[in-house]
Amino acid sequence: MQEQIRKSDTLNVVGELAAGIAHEIRNPMTALKGFIQLLEDGVKGEFSTYFHVITSEIKRIETIITEFLVLAKPQALKIFKQDVHTILRETLELLAAQALLENIQFETNFEEDECKVLCEANQLKQVFINIIKNALEVMPDGGSVHIKTSRFSEKYVCISITDKGMGISAEMLKKLGEPFYTTKDRGTGLGLMVSYKIIEEHNGYIEVESEVGKGTSFHIYLPFE
Ligand code: ADP
Ligand code: MG
Repeated sequence: MQEQIRKSDTLNVVGELAAGIAHEIRNPMTALKGFIQLLEDGVKGEFSTYFHVITSEIKRIETIITEFLVLAKPQALKIFKQDVHTILRETLELLAAQALLENIQFETNFEEDECKVLCEANQLKQVFINIIKNALEVMPDGGSVHIKTSRFSEKYVCISITDKGMGISAEMLKKLGEPFYTTKDRGTGLGLMVSYKIIEEHNGYIEVESEVGKGTSFHIYLPFE
């Protein structure tokens, strides 16, 4: 309990900080977007496909910034009933290039055809990206990352993301989700914090199962509508 109170206090401070930074990033991003649009008008042929990539990546940066703002002060979220599988497939598409580079295959196992939950799709995508990216980052020699969905109970769907990385010790497990907790040289230690917060806001929860030297599973539980 004590632990939880301390964590959420720090969360608020980080949230405010994130909101400040997000505002600062937003202005140059708007300028970038404007000029890229001007450039695009003068470019033809194969190069024009690059502009689609640039534009969609800029959109993604904007989404992340918006999510930080949402994190700072919860506002009216755009919550709809949406298919988790569609969001997962879009996430895997986004991460396909990185996976290919790392020699990693995604193996999916979706038990039901459709799996609808009440959610803010962009936020959920953010959670999936954060957790799957972590999985990619602990498998330097390549291999498979498994993404499984199943009906956990009457109430919850469970989305499991499993890697065969180095695992997490029991002691380290307690620190997951703390702001700025990272064991990576170039890590931010924000990914899991944001993910925990978003899933909490969706009335769900995250469980982590790990064995040192074998791998890790993140189980994300989300309630059906
Ligand atoms: P970052 O990835 O920037 O370090 P995260 O919040 O995403 O920040 O993760 C925090 C820490 O949790 C990581 O630095 C790592 O130590 C641990 N971690 C997260 N996911 C995994 C995983 N799949 N396997 C092993 N350790 C993990
Ligand atoms: Mg991370």
